[in-house]
Amino acid sequence: MRNGMIAQALRRMNFTNKLTLLMVLTSMLVLLLAGSTFMASQIFNRYDRMIADLSTLCRVLGTNCIAALTFQDQKAAQETLDSLRQVPSIKAAAIFTGDLRAFALYIQRPGKGLSKEQVLDHFRKEIKGWGNRKEFMGFLGAIGHNDVEWVEPIRFDGARLGTIIMSRDLSSLYKDVLSFILMSLFVFSLSVILAYLIARRLQPFISAPVLGLAASMKKVSSTKDFSIRAMRETDDEIGGLIDGFNEMLNQIELREKELEKHRKNLELQVTFRTLELSDTNKKLRETVKMLHKAKKAAEAASQAKSQFLANMSHEIRTPLNGILGMSELLLTTKLSPKQRNLVETALSSGDALLSIINDILDFSKIEAGRLELKRQSFRLPDLVEDTAHLFAEGAQRKGLELICLLEDDCPHTVMGDPDRLRQILMNLLGNAVKFTLQGELCLKVGLEKGRPGGRVVFQVKDTGMGIHEDKIGLIFDPFSQADSSTNRRFGGTGLGLAIVKELVTMMQGDIAVESLPGRGTTFRVAIPFEILKESSAMEPGDNALLEGKKVVIISDNPSNREVFYRYLSHWGLVCNEAPANHFQELD
Ligand code: ADP
Repeated sequence: MRNGMIAQALRRMNFTNKLTLLMVLTSMLVLLLAGSTFMASQIFNRYDRMIADLSTLCRVLGTNCIAALTFQDQKAAQETLDSLRQVPSIKAAAIFTGDLRAFALYIQRPGKGLSKEQVLDHFRKEIKGWGNRKEFMGFLGAIGHNDVEWVEPIRFDGARLGTIIMSRDLSSLYKDVLSFILMSLFVFSLSVILAYLIARRLQPFISAPVLGLAASMKKVSSTKDFSIRAMRETDDEIGGLIDGFNEMLNQIELREKELEKHRKNLELQVTFRTLELSDTNKKLRETVKMLHKAKKAAEAASQAKSQFLANMSHEIRTPLNGILGMSELLLTTKLSPKQRNLVETALSSGDALLSIINDILDFSKIEAGRLELKRQSFRLPDLVEDTAHLFAEGAQRKGLELICLLEDDCPHTVMGDPDRLRQILMNLLGNAVKFTLQGELCLKVGLEKGRPGGRVVFQVKDTGMGIHEDKIGLIFDPFSQADSSTNRRFGGTGLGLAIVKELVTMMQGDIAVESLPGRGTTFRVAIPFEILKESSAMEPGDNALLEGKKVVIISDNPSNREVFYRYLSHWGLVCNEAPANHFQELD
């Protein structure tokens, strides 16, 4: 925790202070080590000398007391010890006989501290502690706290006469130690201050180039002026670092200049392109304006054309109806066969002309947006069957089978425009009759399978010449015909399917075609009529009489047999079917 805080504080400290701190700490450490070593050696020296002095004094006094001990002259021994009064550091001394009897005793300040007996007891105990050794000399335990003791045997001619013991005061040593410490502290503090002052003065030699480099970097990053250079003042690694920095700035400056050149170039290009673009835009706007005008003019022209066509077809239709009516009336009069033939030809040509004019009128109306759909309810099966009926004779004349099949789900009554639906069916059936030379035509009506919403699907299928694949996309365009050579044979304007497509679209429906050249064509129209009554198209009325009756359907046309089979089985009859030739074979 504390280490973390120190590390944090060091991290926050600036470079100059860090450097100063480093120098001061180093000198402090060195001083501390040197000072304490010196102090320890001084104290030990002093102590050694003190002990040496004490032991010498003991020996000298012991020698002086040999005679006194030999002759049991206690007084002489006491005098010898009393001479110690000249040495104030000796606190107490005693001479004991060989049997440890106190012979003489010296106490520097009698009456203060320990009593004579206590001192003697203490000395005796000390000597006893050494008694088993031949020689006992050396450092003994202290009397009180500030003493050191020395014991020395007194010998004469190899015989031990007694023992001298001395106690020395150590307070002078302690004083010396204290003054040493105070002195060292003073010197230490002085040295630290000196070290600090020297560090403050010397550190700029190291920090100044680094700080200069840092300042240059800051200036470059804030002003983005890459022409700034750091000053190299030293030849050391920092000098090398400054050189590297300056070199880097050189390169950046060079790149900046190149970039600036490219930017200017780009700006020029952008301005140029913008000018070009605005010019193009202006031209485009003018073109759009012109196109808009042209479109309006074209629309107006188309409207006028459609209007003109509508008017013209209306104007043509009135006299044409007169011609047709008169021709029909003429046919009711008595005519020679030749005259009749001529009138009939005129009547059929007039009919053809009328249908063309009707087509043109419808198309013009659609283009002019004037065609409106009616909304009325009508019976769908009736309309489908009536329309198919109109083509029955034409189909029969060409030897074609015309089949009309109302599926079970064909709605009974729907809401919509019956006339336009009839027009669609007539167009598709008319084309089917027109472009089929043999085979059959089938009109099938029912609900669209697999799609909710109940769209009614009208399918007109023929076995005619079909339409070539690459022409299928064109047949819904106005005035376009798939095959001009065959169409010349059959006539037509190429407007029928265009009108059908428009009508189906107006009814929100779809029209699709599938065709195989030589095999036939199928048109499929799906219209979302609102269904008012859902019922089968094949209602038999009262079918109780027919229920369960057996019937055999014989026809050489399989489609016909299928239609009959469906209707009759729906009415409850039990059906069987067979081709006509099957019965001929049986005969
Ligand atoms: P047209 O008045 O020529 O019949 P339509 O628009 O009705 O004009 O038909 C366009 C063309 O589509 C026809 O000329 C014909 O080539 C082709 N076409 C339409 N219906 C059929 C069909 N059932 N079988 C083959 N070709 C068809």
